[in-house]
Amino acid sequence: ASRKPRAEWDGVGALSDGHPVKLLANVGSAADARAAADAGAEGIGLFRTEFCYLDATEEPSVEAQRAAYAAVLAPFAGKPVIVRTLDAGSDKPLAFLDMGDEPNPALGVRGVRVAFERPELLDRQLAAIAGAAADTGAELSVMAPMIATAAEARWFAERARAAGIARAGVMIEVPAAALCAKEILAEVDFVSLGTNDLAQYVFAADRQLGAVAALNDPGQTALLRLAGMVAEAGAAAGKPVGVCGEAAADPGLAPVLAGLGVSSLSMNSAALASVGATLRAIDLPGCREAAADLGSRECSCRF
Ligand code: PEP
Ligand code: MG
Repeated sequence: ASRKPRAEWDGVGALSDGHPVKLLANVGSAADARAAADAGAEGIGLFRTEFCYLDATEEPSVEAQRAAYAAVLAPFAGKPVIVRTLDAGSDKPLAFLDMGDEPNPALGVRGVRVAFERPELLDRQLAAIAGAAADTGAELSVMAPMIATAAEARWFAERARAAGIARAGVMIEVPAAALCAKEILAEVDFVSLGTNDLAQYVFAADRQLGAVAALNDPGQTALLRLAGMVAEAGAAAGKPVGVCGEAAADPGLAPVLAGLGVSSLSMNSAALASVGATLRAIDLPGCREAAADLGSRECSCRF
């Protein structure tokens, strides 16, 4: 049987008309980062730092954190890297952080909320991240997970700047943050849509529960409409809006996200070639057309 050869990606993160869409990698380890560089990632769009500490029984020292982060950033000297501060709790429990007993961990003290209770933990991590960037020459940005309000975004950006980090952004993965993207963008340098958690909270569908997996589909109207609102707020503020959830890795959704105005897509490195090739075959008007009719994008799970 003859198989259609898969389109080759030419390694350029852009549409067919040259409109740039940065293609970045999601990484959690040095091995991930090497694979991402080999796959042609233009930078790191999401470094999940908590993946370095899943087994740690106590908080690693600043020096140990710095070395662990530097090992991940090393292949990206001179390239943009977005390091996310600890996103512990809920689906990512960390042994060295006692989260207490919560009835609904996905709605509990997780992500940046841990830092509000223990700011010195965040400050030590920011110092280690800044050191790792200096060690490797990577172009550093830091990003906070689970931001819900503009005041939280301001608090995080101030701490990042106090640590000597020039660029601070936040994830948009709580619906309230998407709805207040304008106010949040006034506080930070960029935002990145975390469609995994955003879908979980928008559809009220646990991301870990198979029974509601079909409902938890980021290609639906509600989520894409929110993404479009955030992208519009980014354009108005002149600040970049990326996507680093699984939606970015979907070649069917990537043109829609580009059409909505998203300027970078960050994904596991195995998806870079197919998403890159898909984008190289379509121009900006084509992407905008793909994004135009959001109202008809329904979940096919039940009805
Ligand atoms: C997300 O929520 O979309 C995301 C990218 O972060 P994580 O999957 O690590 O929660
Ligand atoms: Mg998330």
